[in-house]
Amino acid sequence: MSAYLRLLNSLRNQELVHKRFHEFAHQANKSLIDYLFPPVCLNCLTSLEVPHKVCPDCWQNIDFLIAPLCEVKGTPFPFDLEPGTISATALKNPPHYDKARGVATYEGTMKELIHKLKYNDRHELLNLLVAWMKTAGIELIQQSDLIIPIPLYKSRQWERRFNQSALLAKRLSEQSNIPYECSILLRKKKTRSQVGLTSKERYQNLKNAFVIEETKKNKLEGKSILVIDDVITTGATINSAAIALKKSGAKSVNILSLAIVTNSNNQFI
Ligand SMILES: [Zn+2]
Repeated sequence: MSAYLRLLNSLRNQELVHKRFHEFAHQANKSLIDYLFPPVCLNCLTSLEVPHKVCPDCWQNIDFLIAPLCEVKGTPFPFDLEPGTISATALKNPPHYDKARGVATYEGTMKELIHKLKYNDRHELLNLLVAWMKTAGIELIQQSDLIIPIPLYKSRQWERRFNQSALLAKRLSEQSNIPYECSILLRKKKTRSQVGLTSKERYQNLKNAFVIEETKKNKLEGKSILVIDDVITTGATINSAAIALKKSGAKSVNILSLAIVTNSNNQFI
């Protein structure tokens, strides 16, 4: 019996040593990674205690879009209004999408982070940006059947090598278990820059800019679609995408973006 107990004790000790070794190895590995790649602010590279975050200064320089917001366009109201209030511009020209939401206004740190993602291939920003999108778009995500990105023109994607909206959409799909499709909504024609155009010209410029892949139309039928865009500038692009998706049978089209360009009246379009 005592031999048996001794054996049991020895096995327990081995197990304990094994466990301790693993903890030690994990800690040593973590310390080595921290030593080689100390955590820094994802925007300004200031040292931080924890990785994958932005520093307090950069954080303060983000104008997060929080209530009160226009129920349709997600743009902020300067004063407190009843939840569900719709802005004057959305009432005057109702968009074809159902609701749009953005994480922040297109300024300060958010603008810098989007530029880093788009032009400097900083894909390690994705987790933080998608976490913010999940908070800003929680209501829209919960009611979605399919996540699709705003596509780039083939020539532009070739120049940049990737579509930043597709990266965001794919990561969001993985984290929310909602299917992702990047080949349903396609760009039909190369449109000229929207800069300096009136809202009517912008509409004409982007009219019929998108087509739906014929063989995949059935995936839209009666479904709630969540479209991911990096920046909502004038709203003409997302409006045009919503027209194409709804024409092909989508029940609802909501838009989730990282940033919204707002003018002095906090309105786009
Ligand atoms: Zn910083």
